[in-house]
Amino acid sequence: MVHLQHQPPSSLSNSVDISFDQKQQKHHHQQQKQKSKSLLSRPLYLEHDSSCLTAYQCFLRKQIELFEAGHEELNGTAQGRNTPLKYGQVGIRCRHCSHLPKPLRARGSVYFSRTIDGVYQVSQNMSKIHFLQACTLVPEHTKDQLKSLQSVSSRASGGKEYWAEGLRVLGIIEEGGILRFASNSTINEDDDH
Ligand SMILES: [Zn+2]
Repeated sequence: MVHLQHQPPSSLSNSVDISFDQKQQKHHHQQQKQKSKSLLSRPLYLEHDSSCLTAYQCFLRKQIELFEAGHEELNGTAQGRNTPLKYGQVGIRCRHCSHLPKPLRARGSVYFSRTIDGVYQVSQNMSKIHFLQACTLVPEHTKDQLKSLQSVSSRASGGKEYWAEGLRVLGIIEEGGILRFASNSTINEDDDH
């Protein structure tokens, strides 16, 4: 108490200024975020999953997000693709490294399926290539749990129909050879530039 009283007034006002600046910056940042937030993303996992899928499949789904491709995804070349990506096209991505700029993400962090049924398979690929190997941002305990759940599951596969049904429940539709959120299917390529 005594010490505080002896602090010169200038240092007190300094500390107030700094915290005020930080608040302003934070506020500004949030505004920017909201502005570019017309693209949707949401976890693939549903509450109901645990009653229909193996623990492995549930845990895998918890690491995956559905998202709409923005300008960053469209830029540059997508390996192994013979059709260009479309703005607003729905893909799946690793939730652990989705905040990184595209060039910094490890191999297999994003997949685009042409069909609802195909999401199951690309998710299994993501598990093997990205979650268990390439991604450095998946916590070690998450990797360990994924590995051990996979090994105890007598059939790591299965539930393919449920995966498709879950995507429909989440509002995913097939439209012209790509996936979209039905609620946001008014996005068109004119918005691209
Ligand atoms: Zn990742």
